[in-house]
Amino acid sequence: VSGMEHRQRLQKLRERLAADGFDGLLVTGAENRFYLSGFTGSAATLLVTMEEAFLFTDFRYVEQAAQEASAFTIERIGQSVAETVAGKAKALGIKRLGFEPHQLTYKQYLDYQTQFDFLDFTPAKDLVEDIRLVKDADELGLIKQAVRIADAAFAHILKYLKPGVREDEIAFELEYFMRREGASGCAFDFIVASGWRSAMPHGVASAKPLAAGELVTIDMGAVYKHYCSDITRTVVLGEGPDLPKQQQVYEIVLAAQLAGIKAARPGCYGTEVDKAARDVINAAGYGDYFGHSLGHGVGLAIHEGPCFAPRDTTYLTPGMVVTVEPGIYLPGWGGVRIEDMVVLVENGCEVLTNAPKELIII
Ligand code: ZN
Ligand code: ZN
Repeated sequence: VSGMEHRQRLQKLRERLAADGFDGLLVTGAENRFYLSGFTGSAATLLVTMEEAFLFTDFRYVEQAAQEASAFTIERIGQSVAETVAGKAKALGIKRLGFEPHQLTYKQYLDYQTQFDFLDFTPAKDLVEDIRLVKDADELGLIKQAVRIADAAFAHILKYLKPGVREDEIAFELEYFMRREGASGCAFDFIVASGWRSAMPHGVASAKPLAAGELVTIDMGAVYKHYCSDITRTVVLGEGPDLPKQQQVYEIVLAAQLAGIKAARPGCYGTEVDKAARDVINAAGYGDYFGHSLGHGVGLAIHEGPCFAPRDTTYLTPGMVVTVEPGIYLPGWGGVRIEDMVVLVENGCEVLTNAPKELIII
């Protein structure tokens, strides 16, 4: 992403600032900071005003920021970041400055509040997050690459799934493979949940060995040039006595997942997409065992807007990237989840994930 694109993103932010009556925004969230500036270091604060854009950082990062954040004026922090930012805000005559309420600790808030006795320091909700909802062509290209790595990792891991192998060994192998394929890291702590553990929607890989006849749910994703992927597949480890029920539950989840994909389109709300999938699971009598939302946005963050959820108010538009991941979790028995990533396009959605979805019996 070039300095020119960062300037365009700043312009979009300024339109929103003006609409909400702000003179500027203090940007402290890591993903928002990277999205607007391109700065990849761990410590910097942005001040975006209607005319200008400043990046405040300390001695460690001044050089790096000058190289990466060409749309910003770089300023070195003096005594404290709050004092330095306040000096600039005063000089610029800012009267009403927004901050990101989810991205500031209470202590940081107090530090700024003490300095900002000359202006109105007000929470500005999700201004940058809202711009990030719709991915541009560059972002989509990186997301597709992150998905490709996850798809390849799933194909690779199938030969490692056998009785006696521990869940965490599977997780290590997935990570090792993805990093060799160009991922900079894991998008989250991988879920490898076998047997009764597969009934826990977020059963992070444990030391439990896989056993014959068990369901194994694998939920993982790569980070590629800062963008995430997220995929879940559930397989069964050989034909055990429980296979008929495993197949039955699997087919319901798959039908729900396909209904969700069919319903995912611009021009409606995530509630409708969620309902399309949930109706299938409800009709099969398993509604009480699908207790999470159908999907979430993915981009610089593994969980971002919009959501396919019973109560989401984001109006869906083309370019949004969202997961479709229904599941059925039966305590003591096991669970099934199938998760793809989709991008909303003019008439519906394009499925980004390519890993097979028919039940694999290993
Ligand atoms: Zn996932
Ligand atoms: Zn997910």
